Amino acid sequence: RHIPDLLSAGEPTFSFEFFPPKTPEGEQKLWRSIRDIEALQPSWVSVTYGAGGGTRDRTVEMTEQLATDTTLLPLAHMTAVNHSVSELRHLIGRFASAGVNNMLALRGDPPGDPLGEWVKHPEGLEYASELVRLVKESGDFSVGVAAFPFKHPRSASVDEDTDFLVRKFQAGADYAVTQMFFDAEDYLRLRDRVAAKGGGDTPIIPEIMPVLQHSTIEKSEQLSGAPFPKHLAEEFERVSDDPKAVRELGIDQATRMCERLLDEGAPGIHFITFNQSTATREIYERLSGSRVPAAAGART
Ligand code: FAD
Repeated sequence: RHIPDLLSAGEPTFSFEFFPPKTPEGEQKLWRSIRDIEALQPSWVSVTYGAGGGTRDRTVEMTEQLATDTTLLPLAHMTAVNHSVSELRHLIGRFASAGVNNMLALRGDPPGDPLGEWVKHPEGLEYASELVRLVKESGDFSVGVAAFPFKHPRSASVDEDTDFLVRKFQAGADYAVTQMFFDAEDYLRLRDRVAAKGGGDTPIIPEIMPVLQHSTIEKSEQLSGAPFPKHLAEEFERVSDDPKAVRELGIDQATRMCERLLDEGAPGIHFITFNQSTATREIYERLSGSRVPAAAGART
């Protein structure tokens, strides 16, 4: 099964992102969440690719386990950080033999400081667009890429950032998944810019991370490099001494944004889960009946 086929099937896709845990407790929590999410029959689940050797092996193992032990369709993230081209080819081969044929091709960040100097591996790749080409020429893979509604922190301007995204599409990417954002307008503006620059109608899937604690606001700014919308920050500020109210507002805000995005024709929704299923399941269930088909995915 290839993700582009699900994206062109005419119904919104619903997908969930997990990361390989580092501890046995984390592993247990992850698998509980995966089984909960599996019951929703999502379109696919993705597994992030870490900065270090051990977690990287776990990405391969975890996607393999998802492919063999569950009904879920796994999407493997991979990055160019500290990899030669021959190591990347080997990694693609490992995914392929695990039955994983959907990849998200990323450049990745320098280990340690994400905004530190990017140093390409001497026999490696400079940009994600090169990784897109490498994966595409390696076999029958679908390839997604990252998109940044608010521009990537390293890009000089929004305009330049859009050019780079369009180049990834021209290199063969089948779709993009965005960085998290909290104002639907940011997504709609990105989509308009891509269309204006000849990016065609390549699907751009919005990534959603609900605010569940007041500290998530600051965390989101660190993770995305984008400022949190002022009007929303004020709403959260008003209930900041009531953790339950913050969580309820976060879920409500995320649900409203998902509804707006789907009404505006977004091809699907990709949820960041932090390996917990409860909040994203709540949002998914609130969308049920209106925007979510009875079984969102698992289309064979
Ligand atoms: P690129 O598209 O290569 O862009 C990198 C920088 O180079 C940008 O500033 C861009 O503007 C610039 N650029 C691009 N092309 C050119 C060009 N032709 N000429 C000049 N400049 C250019 N990181 C992980 O380590 N593991 C993960 O699993 C992971 N998953 C992610 C999932 C999503 C949905 C997103 C949005 C990001 C994810 N990241 C992950 C983070 C990502 O690796 C970083 O944001 C990284 O800094 C950029 O990756 P990229 O693939 O967009 O790189």
